[in-house]
Amino acid sequence: MELSSNSKAIPQLSVPEQEIDRYSINGWLAKVLYTIAVVGPLVALAYAIKQLWQHQVYAIDIALLVGMYMFTATGITVGFHRYLTHRAFKTRNWLKILLLAMGSMAIEGPALTWASTHLEHHARADKDGDPHSPIEGFFHAHVGWIIDGFRPNSNKYGDWLREDRIVMFITRTFWFWVFLTFFIPYLVDGWRGVLWGGLVRVALVHHVTWSVNSVCHVFGKRPFKTGDRSTNNWLVGLLAGGEGWHNNHHAFQRSAFHGLYWWQLDLSGLFIRFLEIFKVVDEVQRVSPELIRKRLRESAAAVTGQNSRPATE
Ligand SMILES: [Zn+2]
Ligand SMILES: [Zn+2]
Repeated sequence: MELSSNSKAIPQLSVPEQEIDRYSINGWLAKVLYTIAVVGPLVALAYAIKQLWQHQVYAIDIALLVGMYMFTATGITVGFHRYLTHRAFKTRNWLKILLLAMGSMAIEGPALTWASTHLEHHARADKDGDPHSPIEGFFHAHVGWIIDGFRPNSNKYGDWLREDRIVMFITRTFWFWVFLTFFIPYLVDGWRGVLWGGLVRVALVHHVTWSVNSVCHVFGKRPFKTGDRSTNNWLVGLLAGGEGWHNNHHAFQRSAFHGLYWWQLDLSGLFIRFLEIFKVVDEVQRVSPELIRKRLRESAAAVTGQNSRPATE
């Protein structure tokens, strides 16, 4: 299926209104807890690097780290982001449950909260009210907004998901998936598994995901004029399974593929293609080459127009 327009298909996005209780759980206790949740995995990462330095790392540690990273990062990029939030494809219930469980195991918040926050981001990208714009500082965009206890308006942005029983089941059982994300590596490798396949992996998945919000709104190229500061950054594209082609994504939000050319490596897109070949997903959203060329021409013309304006304007 090909997209006819870039971003008009998601409901609830028009005329964003300013919310009052955006940081309603930002009491000092909540801030301390969020800080521990953010700093804790980093402390574990530092300890793991020390172990690596002392050659106290084994193949099973690395296998758990890579395996759990791929599993939960795919849950975020393919499950929470492209499937749940942007409806880039349709799938069977069993795969839907699996993808949403995998996303929950990344510990980036419950499915409903994640999707609502992300829709608020697209609705107000780099404008007043964006949950995590670097306009308020790079640190704020990366992690400060989480420590501040940002809470999305899921009544407005996640309203359409509240009627979905599977989404609400996975959302309500969030803490079970958090338990499982540490229990699985524990079963395989005991407390070393919790360190490498649990905490170190959580630290890496978190900061790579958050780099899409921070780095990919500051550093990189902007081939498409999208009315925000989103960029294409190849390094984040590589680490975050294709999510670093973020300017492409802001231009064509429902597209299942964020890499639009063969050289824009998009592992999540390749995975969706793989699922499509095996017929477990369908109605995969694509952007036609004509539409890409049209948007590029328009963007280039807009830049030329800006540059040729008289200096006094
Ligand atoms: Zn998005
Ligand atoms: Zn963005």
